[in-house]
Order: sequence, then structure tokens, then C-alpha cells
Amino acid sequence: MMKKVLKLNVVINILVILVVFFATVIHLYSSMDALRTSLTNNYLESNHNYAIKLAEEVDYITDELQKRIITIANLSSSSDFRQQSNLDTLFYSENDHFNSIFFTDTKGVIQLISPSVINTPDNISVRAGTKIDSEIMKRALTEKKPFISEVYKTKSGTLFLLVTAPVFNEQREHIGVMVGTVYLEDQNAIKIALGTHGYDDGSYVFAVDKKGHIISHPNISRIYADISDNPIMKILKQGKSGFDKVTKGDKEYFAGYTTTKNLGWGIVSLTPASTINEPINDLLIKIVTRSLTTLIILLIIATFLVRSITKPLTELALYSEKSILNRKIDIGKDDINIQSHIYEINQLYRQVKSHLVMLKKEVQLDGLTGLANRRTFDEIIKDWINKRQSFSIIFLDIDNFKKVNDTYGHLVGDDVLRYLSATINNFSSEDDLSFRYGGEEFGILLKNKSEDEAYKIAEQLRRKIEQTASPTGKPITVSLGVTSLKEMDNHPKTIIERADYALYQSKKTGKNRTTLYKKQD
Ligand code: GH3
Ligand code: MG
Ligand code: MG
Repeated sequence: MMKKVLKLNVVINILVILVVFFATVIHLYSSMDALRTSLTNNYLESNHNYAIKLAEEVDYITDELQKRIITIANLSSSSDFRQQSNLDTLFYSENDHFNSIFFTDTKGVIQLISPSVINTPDNISVRAGTKIDSEIMKRALTEKKPFISEVYKTKSGTLFLLVTAPVFNEQREHIGVMVGTVYLEDQNAIKIALGTHGYDDGSYVFAVDKKGHIISHPNISRIYADISDNPIMKILKQGKSGFDKVTKGDKEYFAGYTTTKNLGWGIVSLTPASTINEPINDLLIKIVTRSLTTLIILLIIATFLVRSITKPLTELALYSEKSILNRKIDIGKDDINIQSHIYEINQLYRQVKSHLVMLKKEVQLDGLTGLANRRTFDEIIKDWINKRQSFSIIFLDIDNFKKVNDTYGHLVGDDVLRYLSATINNFSSEDDLSFRYGGEEFGILLKNKSEDEAYKIAEQLRRKIEQTASPTGKPITVSLGVTSLKEMDNHPKTIIERADYALYQSKKTGKNRTTLYKKQD
């Protein structure tokens, strides 16, 4: 199966995007988590503090109510004071605290009442002479101590409490009870303190009495509801103060709670947990937009970096690809020079280049003799013809070489080939190019030399070989053919054919000689 091949810059860009993405997600998650925790703690604490503040206020108000009734009871010890007008004066100055104030004798019969006639919520007229026959009255008359009653509910559903104080005459004899009534839902200090209005964010406060009846709630239908089995009630009953997350229906709330010292009422302040979603969402949007900017900047930087990595690599890949595909390698020409800031790339480039240079040499040179090979010869001759570069050519073939091989063996034959190559190479000048054309055939391209000059050189070479001992111990001889570039030559083939023909003439006419190609031949 073929593996999918990806380009390096694509891979690195994907990597950058992934890194930024995951870093953003982790950053997002931890920031939101931190914000959620700190907001949660804030709301829990502020609700707790608010509940404590309200409880202190309720304690203060109930203390005040009790003190006022005690004061009125004390004033009433004097028979001169026990006048309707005096009670009225006191009542109207206490207007925002009590719905009514009355004084009963020891039998519970009202002696003085202000206002003078009251219609109870249950539509009973109460006035001087009315006998109050309730459990609290009995308790107040027997206990002879000041107290505030529990919260009661009238038949018609109004919540009220009584603030009582015993009345003694100047002889310290118990003569009755002073009572102040407070309707919890009327406008009074307790009502104002508990602020039964809700807040914009859905926060609200409710209060419960000792028995678990709601005595204050922004939702009127909840008033006097029994929540004694609510988990918060259990904590409140133990007089504990604190905060917690609570679930009501399908909504979560941050709740702070405490109990009042005087009456043991529970005060609970709640804020919907959803309140913190808005700042968290704001943060989310902020982080995402900021990360996007960072992502774009990082991508731009990455693109530059990636390019500095991939560009030399791409060049290198193209270079070696071209070199291998074309097999036409010209050292020095269409060469690249890669300089990267990255160590590995420079190393790779150096390795590839030296390897390619080696390959080039192998492609261009003959393995046995180290002379240029036929491929190089073909290329150069083609190039010179195209450029109309004037040149002559000498073709050369060892005479009776088969015999050398047969007599001395192939290895000596190879030595002879190498020896001859060195001789030819030493003989040619710098501009000339000597090459091995095939088996025991060689050639020399002579730049800017006429065929006569070439002929002279060929003859000198032939004589030198003839006079020099070869690796066999004896000299060898060679036959040569000479020609030069003519105007009509448009293809290497025609020149090579002429040189070959001249060489063939040398062989035919007795070997160990040089023939200059002549048209009439
Ligand atoms: P002629 O004078 O007609 O050229 O005779 P010749 O024997 O030189 O020519 P022929 O073409 O009959 O034989 C050429 C021989 O060259 C045959 C082959 O074994 C030998 N030869 C070709 N290449 C190599 C080589 O790389 N090493 C060795 N040792 N011998 C080679
Ligand atoms: Mg031959
Ligand atoms: Mg030969």
C-alpha cells in the first residue's frame, strides 16, 4: 500500500495550527475554570455576608420592638399615665413599628387600645372591653416576662407576631400585659429590612421561622409554605451559618444563610448560578478573538520559518531530481548553492552535492582509464558543432590488441589500456580533450587546431608510442585517423564517420600509421 506523501510545509503548518489550537483550548478551559471558581466563591461569600447583615438588622429591629413595648409597659405603671390619649400619642409615634398597641388586664380584657377600634384581618372588631382569649395571651399573663411571639397566621392568612411586656403598678403588683401587634406583610421595619423585592439578576432573599414556615418571600404564594424538610432548614435549625450551592427545581443557586439570634429565624440569600454565565461567555469570546489574532500572527511567522526550512530542501530535492532524470550533468553549470541557517539542511546539502559530483564524474568518465567517456565526447562534440567551434579530431585504435590479451592476459591488457590513456593524456594540451571511445579505441578533440596541425600531433603521438615500452615490456603500435570540422557538418555523425574512415584506411594500409581524411579518398 502506498503511504500518502505530504509536503513538508503542509505538515509544519498543520503542526502549528494544532499546537495553537490545543494551547488555546487548554488556556480557555483553565481560564474559564478559574473564573467560574472565583465567581462562584464570590457569590457564595457575598450571599453569606448579605444573610448575616440582614440577620443582624432583624435582630436589631426586634430588640427595638421589644424595648419599646417594655418602655410603654413601664410608663403604664402609673395610673395617671394609663390614658387613651397617652397611648395614642405613643402609638402614632411608633406607627412604622406596630399595627396596634393594647393593654389588657390580668384576665386578658382590653383596657386601652390604639387605634381605638381595629378590624382584624379576620374581620373581627377589637376594642376596649374585648377579651383576648389566645394561647399567647395566657402565656403572657402567666409568664409575666417580656417576649416576642412566634409568627402566627390568621384564618384569613395574614402573618403576625405579638410583642409583649408585663405591666406592674406602682406597688409592683401585676396588673396586666402591654401588647404590640406586627403584621409582617404590612409596611414595617421588618418588612423593609428583609426587602422582599427580587433583584435584576434573579437574586432574592427569603426568611423562615423556627418551625420552617416561610415568613418572607418575594413570591407571595410561597408565604407560610412549610419547608421544614428542606436540607437548608436542617442546617439552619442547628443555628449554623454558611453557604452552599443548592438546586431548586431545575435551577442551581448560590446560597448564603444564617439564623437570627433573637427569634431563631433563618435568613437565606440566593443568586442563580446562571448569573456567572454571562461574564464567562464574555471571557470566552475575548480569549477566542485574542487567540485568533495570535494564531494569525503565529501562522505568518511559521510560514516564514517554514519557508526558510523548506525552500532549500525543495531546491535540493529539485536539483537531485533533475540531475538524476536528465543524467545530463555539467559540473559547475546549473549548480545550486544552498545556504540555510539550519545545520541539518547545510549538512544534507553538502552530502547530496558531493554525492552528485561523484555521480557526475562517474557518468562522465571511463571507469578503467579515467579518461572522458563516449557520452561526454558526444556531448562536447555536439556542443562545439552548435557553437561552430573549430576543432580537429584524432581517432586511434591499438593494433592487434587481441593478441596482447591472448599473450599476456586481460589484466595486462587493461594495464596497456591505462598506460596508453596516460600517454594520450600527457600528449594533449589543456584545451584538448582525450577520451576512450570504446574497447581499445581512443580519441582526441583538438580545439582551434587545423587538420594539418592535428596530423602532426597524431604522428608525434604514434611515434612516441611506437618507441615506448608498454606494460607488456614491448612497445605497442596504434593506427590513427584525422579530420576536422567542415562547414557542411551539422551533426557529430559526419565527422566521426570521416575520422573512422581515415582510421580504417590506416589499418587497411598496414597499421601503425596516420591517415588524414581526404575527400578524394
Ligand atoms: P586490429 O589491429 O584490427 O584493431 O586488431 P585488434 O585485435 O586490435 O582488434 P579486434 O577488434 O579484433 O580486438 C579488440 C580486442 O580488444 C578484443 C577485446 O578482447 C579487447 N578489448 C576490448 N576492450 C578491452 C578491455 O577493456 N580490456 C582488455 N584487456 N581487452 C579489451
Ligand atoms: Mg578496435
Ligand atoms: Mg585494434
